[in-house]
Amino acid sequence: MGSRGFKIATIGSHSALQILRGAKDEGFGTIAVCEKERDEPYRHFGVADRIILLDSFKKFMEIENDLISENSIVIPHGTFLDAVTTEKIELLKVPYFGNKKILKWEVDRAMQREWLRKAGLTLPRIFRGPDDIDVPAIIKFYGAKGGKGFFLAKSRDEFDRKIEEHKGKAYIIQEYIVGAPIYIHYFYSPLSGEIELMSFDKRYESNVDSIGRIAAKDQLDMGLDTSYNITGNVPLVVRESLLPKIFEMGRAVIEASKKIEKRGIFGPFSLETVITPDLKFYVFEISARIVAGTNHYISGSPYTALKYKEPMSTGRRISREIRNAIASDQLCKVLG
Ligand code: AMP
Repeated sequence: MGSRGFKIATIGSHSALQILRGAKDEGFGTIAVCEKERDEPYRHFGVADRIILLDSFKKFMEIENDLISENSIVIPHGTFLDAVTTEKIELLKVPYFGNKKILKWEVDRAMQREWLRKAGLTLPRIFRGPDDIDVPAIIKFYGAKGGKGFFLAKSRDEFDRKIEEHKGKAYIIQEYIVGAPIYIHYFYSPLSGEIELMSFDKRYESNVDSIGRIAAKDQLDMGLDTSYNITGNVPLVVRESLLPKIFEMGRAVIEASKKIEKRGIFGPFSLETVITPDLKFYVFEISARIVAGTNHYISGSPYTALKYKEPMSTGRRISREIRNAIASDQLCKVLG
């Protein structure tokens, strides 16, 4: 058996359905760690051989020994990071797919910026304080989930007015880039040294993605402000002539990651970009693990269809990497 008795385990949320389904497709047993009353999807879709129920994901560490005795490899995703926290992930003894040490470079906005700068990417400006706002700016909160509470300001006055309801929260003020948002999903194999382009999505955010349905006059009359709370993801293909640049950016991020952390980043990651009308990419964020925008492609994307003979989700690609590592006795290369 290619899986050598290993099981793939993750927390039941975010992108767990495709991770577990992909693991089964690659011949692994699977475990979903679910919060009570949130386990139905994992039973319904038959992706989990075993379900472990917790009162709260925050209690994940309590079942770690159980996962170890089951010979599990855990796969991180957004909810996993949020619930277990980067500090505790570093202490995990259960085998973990990916480089734990790179996570703090995603979580800390200043460190993230340093990483992307080292990669030579174009980033939106950061303003030192509200007095420096001289072009439209987006105000982002630390640890904000999915853009909740973010707002726009074009001046110090507007900033002062809008920050009122967010008193006490840490924030950054970033130049607002007008253009088309595109989220790029990559996979980097430490075994083959190849970067793969898995898919793209754009976000569906409330209310910014629906505000154009109301005439500008009505927007003003209603005193509407934009907000960026994520509600879903929309699949996308990009203009083909942009692909060389997209590969180049991904490769630069991998090279830079090796300068900041010895083993660098491997496995899935995503760049959040805005493309301006002159087709320049601004990168405003990196996710150093699988992103939920890949959920569209459980049966593969237009790009994975070109590369693989079978449907290849990002979740399945993770298990394929683990399987290849087991087969070539290099499991330690994909565990962090
Ligand atoms: P984030 O939490 O950083 O992913 O941002 C949430 C949303 O805010 C994004 O999906 C974009 O719609 C928007 N956004 C964030 N930063 C910028 C920026 N610098 N310029 C334009 N839009 C942005």
